[in-house]
Amino acid sequence: MFDPASIRPDFPILGREVNGRPLVYLDNAATSHTPRQVLDACRHYYEALNSNIHRGTHHLAREATSAHEAARATVARHLHAADPAEVIFTSGCTDSINLAANIAGARLGEDDEILIGALEHHSNIVPWQMLCQRSGASLRVIPCDDHGVLDQGAFRSLLTKRTKVLALGWVSNAFGTVHPAAEMAVAARQAGALVLLDAAQAVPHLPIDVQALGADFLAFSGHKVYGPTGIGVLWGRLDLLRDLPPWRGGGEMIKEVTFEHTTYNEPPFRYEAGTPDIEGAIGLAAAFDYLNAIGLEAVAAHESNLIRAAAERLSTIDGIRLYGPAGRIGAISFNLEGVHHYDLGTLIDQMGVAVRTGHHCCQPLMARFGTTGTVRASFAAYNTLDEIDILAKSVFKAAAMLR
Ligand code: PMP
Repeated sequence: MFDPASIRPDFPILGREVNGRPLVYLDNAATSHTPRQVLDACRHYYEALNSNIHRGTHHLAREATSAHEAARATVARHLHAADPAEVIFTSGCTDSINLAANIAGARLGEDDEILIGALEHHSNIVPWQMLCQRSGASLRVIPCDDHGVLDQGAFRSLLTKRTKVLALGWVSNAFGTVHPAAEMAVAARQAGALVLLDAAQAVPHLPIDVQALGADFLAFSGHKVYGPTGIGVLWGRLDLLRDLPPWRGGGEMIKEVTFEHTTYNEPPFRYEAGTPDIEGAIGLAAAFDYLNAIGLEAVAAHESNLIRAAAERLSTIDGIRLYGPAGRIGAISFNLEGVHHYDLGTLIDQMGVAVRTGHHCCQPLMARFGTTGTVRASFAAYNTLDEIDILAKSVFKAAAMLR
């Protein structure tokens, strides 16, 4: 059985105090903390390898290039990608979705439709809205029920030959709902649509096999999976990446440039204009190595225990409303009757508990549930059952003070 106490010393920040109390960090869906192993890999890059990649013929440049491409191979292995060339490094999940919307956008026209879910993060809404404005295509939304579960019947009827893209958040950052991504991807591809999965909240908690999933694109950020900020990934099917046009122009993405005409490099480089976040890629690979050394399945089982315990403990508090279905992963959202989520979050922060309050970048979802926001506790491998206890006791105490 995995014991979080065995890894807590790897995370220096967990030793901090906040407001005179030991930090209880339950905002992992916003960003997770970084273990020493990742920090060491980033430090080693600057201390021993720092050089611009792909261009230099000198020794250091070759070593830095090898380290960067080894990081790409590690990420590809973690995702079960068919080829490392399918892994495009970006600055984060938002950047990855914007990249996908811009390259896939070349295929869209006026009569086409883009389908998204009711629980999407703004990062998986706005880039598609912008594409609709450019292309004349329309945005359609799969509704959800009162538990925050997508209506599969509505999905099937919204899926028509006009649907050119299904862009789906696999795991909701707001409610923790897990959608049947593989099933929906297969149905959408059969209907002739390209499928993008926003996996920002899936990658930290689930094993990923992009070949089994059957999607065309998968997007996520490094900083939510124990890696550094500033690095993310867009995985794409290689045949598709070879076919689609690049988006950003600049160095590295070209084969040959004249003042009249430019030919483009092969994927992934054609989508990575300019100097990339070399340290970030190396750090992300170190994060996957770290996670895999612990064992993702053990971590996932531990996190499920935490979330079940949190749901049980919180639901004993008078006037609490939990959002999302019982099988939620990663995060649990709630509100207290008669109390503003911001006041509740601020008060439990005074008790050392870091949670998120507000709309979680899901304003349409909050509107659907008739609220401006919720309090969200979200979990990582290093969280403990004692911390769930502190969360529940803090919410209980705050409820007594605020009502
Ligand atoms: N999608 C989801 C589901 C998310 O939770 C987030 C981050 N909260 C994003 C996209 C955007 O990630 P980033 O801000 O790292 O680009």
